[in-house]
Amino acid sequence: MGRVYNFSAGPACMPEEVLREIQGELLEYGSSGMSVMEMSHRSKDFEDILHGTEDSLRKLMSIPDNYKVLFVQGGGSQQFAAVPMNLMKNRVADYINTGAWTKKAIKEAKLYGKVNVIASSEDETFTYIPDMSSLKISEDADYVYICQNNTIYGTRYSELPDTGDKPLVSDISSMFVSEPLNVSKYGVLYAGAQKNAGPAGLVVVIAREDLITDDVLPGTPTMLKWKTQADNDSMYNTPNTWGIYVTGKIFKWILDLGGLEAMKARNEKKAALLYDYLDNSKLFKGTVRKDSRSLMNIPFVTGNEELDKKFISECGENGIKNIKGHRSVGGMRASLYNAMPYEGVEALVAVMEKFERENG
Ligand SMILES: *Cc1c(COP(=O)(O)O)cnc(C)c1O
Repeated sequence: MGRVYNFSAGPACMPEEVLREIQGELLEYGSSGMSVMEMSHRSKDFEDILHGTEDSLRKLMSIPDNYKVLFVQGGGSQQFAAVPMNLMKNRVADYINTGAWTKKAIKEAKLYGKVNVIASSEDETFTYIPDMSSLKISEDADYVYICQNNTIYGTRYSELPDTGDKPLVSDISSMFVSEPLNVSKYGVLYAGAQKNAGPAGLVVVIAREDLITDDVLPGTPTMLKWKTQADNDSMYNTPNTWGIYVTGKIFKWILDLGGLEAMKARNEKKAALLYDYLDNSKLFKGTVRKDSRSLMNIPFVTGNEELDKKFISECGENGIKNIKGHRSVGGMRASLYNAMPYEGVEALVAVMEKFERENG
């Protein structure tokens, strides 16, 4: 059937140009005579790949010198534990609960200390980002934790909470390298690569140097201590060499397109096309409050489960795949990550228009 428009929330679509470039290097990388998959992580070729990936990311995100970039494994989910293990000196942390991913992070943090949920949007099934004007940050909190783009519910912070002198920790998995962020406002940022940057199995942690210490919770595994990764250039053990290579290619692709400002403009244009359609449709409805809408993940429904099913099936017949909503919320969800072309969203909207004419 050829390549489809893949609206998956992750692992997700990758730029075709990058896939072809990788294909071209699959058997022999440069003059190494071997595939990146076959290379020692201690080789000069791989070291250059690792440093190239880090340099590209530093340039893309304008990462200040007092922040380290770590390439680790275990998925975003392992950072749910690594964050408290590395930061919970007083065994207290504040969390803002905006959906499934913060719930999991909260559950994990509770294994190590006291969690104060200082704001939540659970009362309306996480369809908005809570008002943060009167946030009460706990005096003894070691950090404040947010998930900045909520992949399942399709919400995104339009501004950051004011955490005073408490480090802000942000899970940016599903908005990673999709728009510029001011890194100096955060203590720690982390993202699984498989949403917006590369293949599954790689996590990028960006942490301020003073938060990377030996003073971690007793019993913290060596591998989960950020200091271990920082001191060893992310090569305490064998890193995800393939993931680092592919992700580096994606960073380079974004740089060549003009960096994160250009990426944000592209992403806004794509999201606007779908949101405008949803706002004017009599059949389809977006589920998220307007001021909290994500640029990356857009959930919508018809209000009728049978019609949703029929629509998803018609999408499939038209080369539009993985449009089904998360199993916990139902309906539809279109993930418009960096690699989704504008034409993909046009194709989706065309199928929606036709479906509305025939079923509205
Ligand atoms: C997908 C996702 C995760 C979990 O990532 P894994 O790599 O599957 O552990 C965490 N946070 C957010 C926001 C995500 O979208």
